[in-house]
Amino acid sequence: MLDCLIIGGGPAGLTAAIYLARYRRRVVVVDAGDSRAALIPESHNYPGFQGIAGPALLDRLRGQALRYGAELTHGTVTALTREHDGFIAGSGSATYRAHTVLMATGLIDKKPVTEGLGDGIVHGAIRFCPICDGYEATDKRIGVLGPFETAAHKALFMRTYSRDVRLFSTDRAEVPGVSKDLTAAGVTVAGIATRVDPSADGVSVTVEDGRTHVLDVLYPTLGCTVRSDLAAALGAACSDIGTLKVAPASTGCSAPATLSPTCISSASPRAMRRSRRPRSTTGSRETTDNRGCGGAFSTSPRSD
Ligand SMILES: Cc1cc2nc3c(=O)[nH]c(=O)nc-3n(C[C@H](O)[C@H](O)[C@H](O)COP(=O)(O)OP(=O)(O)OC[C@H]3O[C@@H](n4cnc5c(N)ncnc54)[C@H](O)[C@@H]3O)c2cc1C
Repeated sequence: MLDCLIIGGGPAGLTAAIYLARYRRRVVVVDAGDSRAALIPESHNYPGFQGIAGPALLDRLRGQALRYGAELTHGTVTALTREHDGFIAGSGSATYRAHTVLMATGLIDKKPVTEGLGDGIVHGAIRFCPICDGYEATDKRIGVLGPFETAAHKALFMRTYSRDVRLFSTDRAEVPGVSKDLTAAGVTVAGIATRVDPSADGVSVTVEDGRTHVLDVLYPTLGCTVRSDLAAALGAACSDIGTLKVAPASTGCSAPATLSPTCISSASPRAMRRSRRPRSTTGSRETTDNRGCGGAFSTSPRSD
């Protein structure tokens, strides 16, 4: 019987594994191998590193967890049920029994539908979280792509970094009051996007009137899919966007705070113990809401 089964071996799950292994707990991490962190070309906001690529960071975290005795295994947990003194989980032909389960399954960003997008992400031309890497977009040609009002919020924030910020809508050409605010802040409302084409050194976006905008960086703000199905099926309380509600372990009560896996530094595993919480009816996981995806920032356009 394990002390803890960790589902997900991204930065959150591996950090938890390091701590639990150092507490001398019997820990297994089961990881399906598509960490969001693996897509990071080079991160500059991770304390202690001047710059580190996502895959290298994951390697370091894995090495550190192994060093203290955590067991790491590749697989996808597809079934998770309760049994009298803990949980039982299934991954392929393997079965795990554990007193506690720690969910660190992350989320998946919704991406523009276009060919060659992977290259754009690898080259850093398509980015998802300005909290993580907005600084690297300083003085560049920045585009924000998404439903008008969501994109407007992010576009205003991007004025922190550049005078050249353009909004590409995926739903409507303008929202009167919001468009006025954007123009006043110096954001160009470029129209409804019809194509996104990554290139070797940037990305271009074509809009309905046929014009093509060449950009250095594009931030899609299309929402995300929160991978909380396993926990929601067990009755864990979820927010309306599918993130798990967590509570301080000491109180055992359900706190309203929702921790969102926005950046590595805030990637928060959620430990589950056996509880008698009522089954949630709000276990939605598909969302266009960006609260879990780097959407929680205030706007402060640069003054120049
Ligand atoms: C292009 C890009 C650039 C980024 N740059 C930065 C940056 O510079 N700085 C920064 O702080 N953050 C950055 N981020 C965000 C960062 O990558 C995430 O915040 C971080 O990876 C979240 O860690 P996590 O462990 O919660 O989830 P993830 O890293 O997504 O890991 C979750 C893991 O759980 C696994 N999993 C899911 N379901 C199951 C299951 N049922 N069974 C087994 N395994 C499962 C997945 O396969 C995955 O490996 C960036 C993200 C992207 C996409």
